Amino acid sequence: MRTVLHAADISRALTRIAHEVLESNKGADRLVVLGIPTRGVALADRVAELISSISGTRVPSGALDVTMYRDDLARHPTRTPAPTSIPEGGIDGVTVVLVDDVLFSGRTIRAALDALGDIGRPRAVRLATLVDRGHRELPIRPDFVGKNLPSASHERINVRVVEYDGEDAVTIEEV
Ligand code: 5GP
Ligand code: MG
Repeated sequence: MRTVLHAADISRALTRIAHEVLESNKGADRLVVLGIPTRGVALADRVAELISSISGTRVPSGALDVTMYRDDLARHPTRTPAPTSIPEGGIDGVTVVLVDDVLFSGRTIRAALDALGDIGRPRAVRLATLVDRGHRELPIRPDFVGKNLPSASHERINVRVVEYDGEDAVTIEEV
């Protein structure tokens, strides 16, 4: 097992992403940051917090569960949904920044777009991911990337966050 991002690298990457979101959105106005459970939610909360402290404007964050929108639900019928929590005010007319820990085939994000469509109509949806490991199966690409980590299919990327795992680290291992 090899560590590819240490805690300080993750912290720098999230700070950079916060600055990039602010630049592309031309400020913190009408922004909502939504994480995909589980670890995406912790990362989304941190990005929203960073954007808020950099800009001085409070940017809300929440969670978007996509379980019921997956195209492989029939193959994994025991998957248990996680809570969705949309900030007060909803998502109509705002820019939603989706945050996930790892981007792989793109199917989770496709499901997330479907889930969002049932909640409201954002003016735009952007995608931030801590790790882009490649192997896309759909025409989806991230707008903000912590680290591009070209990986083999037999490799597993472990994302550990303080909120759930007691430490921040990204490791890669053969499986
Ligand atoms: P996708 O739907 O793009 O194939 O996969 C993305 C989702 O699966 C993300 O929510 C991510 O958490 C999880 N995922 C896919 N590959 C990996 C991986 O190598 N490591 C981790 N930690 N999660 C992965
Ligand atoms: Mg995940």
